[in-house]
Amino acid sequence: MATLRVAPKAEVAPMKAAQISKPGAEFEIVERQIPEPEAGQVRIKVKACGICHSDVLVKEGLWPGIEYPRVPGHEVAGVVDEVGAGVSTWKQGQRVGVGWHGGHDNTCRECRRGDFRNCRNVKISGFSYDGGYQQYMVAPLEALVPIPDALADVDAAPLLDAGITTYNALRNSGAMPGDLVAVQGIGGLGHLGIQFANKFGYHVATIGRGSGNAVLAKKLGAHVYIDSQATTAAQELQKLGGARVILATAPSSKAMSALIDGLGPNGKLVVIGTAPEPIEVTPAQLILGSKTIQGWAAGTPAASEDTLNFCVLTGVRPMIETYPLEKAAEAYARMLSGEAEFRVVLTM
Ligand SMILES: [Zn+2]
Repeated sequence: MATLRVAPKAEVAPMKAAQISKPGAEFEIVERQIPEPEAGQVRIKVKACGICHSDVLVKEGLWPGIEYPRVPGHEVAGVVDEVGAGVSTWKQGQRVGVGWHGGHDNTCRECRRGDFRNCRNVKISGFSYDGGYQQYMVAPLEALVPIPDALADVDAAPLLDAGITTYNALRNSGAMPGDLVAVQGIGGLGHLGIQFANKFGYHVATIGRGSGNAVLAKKLGAHVYIDSQATTAAQELQKLGGARVILATAPSSKAMSALIDGLGPNGKLVVIGTAPEPIEVTPAQLILGSKTIQGWAAGTPAASEDTLNFCVLTGVRPMIETYPLEKAAEAYARMLSGEAEFRVVLTM
């Protein structure tokens, strides 16, 4: 059935967006028409958007199928500005977020079994369609996450990817309260992983390079700090009984490989940080003690909702640096430098 649609008016005020015109191009601030939501979509007035290391995949054209120009951004916090035809479950003015999981088809084998996270046709915000590096964006209903009043936009944004990834990886890891759980790396992911691990009641060990972050790690909730430069971290974990779970967040396959011998019986290395090199492990390392290595990607918007509510309940918050949208290139470079503490967030 054809739908009567009013064409966007020519006098609609343009908005600002930070786009990548082609793979490898620099960010450019452009003026665009404000997008119109279609049936099953809402328009979001973006308030804040986190810059994630995986935005490199969009900027450099390293993800298959991305159409350019593209506006990245999959850590979006804002308010519903307009709803598409037939949308009744979201209201104008309602606070809303969009994370990595940008939509699913509801029809594939995984969706029919309720495993939306692994949809065969999953959409990624800022990859499959324009994301949050702009003043307004359009998103499908199944990607939306309600934001609790107690969370500021700039705090909610990074929780919609870095937050949910660490929270969901840990809560699905099989670790129980009191178990030794190690968080490798104190960065954008790690500083959240340490906080969640503490609030989940684990015995938390943090593995970092050098002694510089020891005080911060303890402040975030680590019970033990292991300096991987001064000691052999795997041995230190064995002295504590062996880890039930090691959450590998730092993008170093070599560092991850070196930690496998720190796992205790039935221990699991959960990989959420990405690096191009292979992780190296011998069969014997896994067979003895029935150890596993598992990867984990974010989660559904429902799991993001759980993440935000848990953060309100427990006080977990990201540490952030904010930049205005106009300085997207500078903010992106800051993220890439690895010097940011710890998530870089654009404000509109
Ligand atoms: Zn599906």
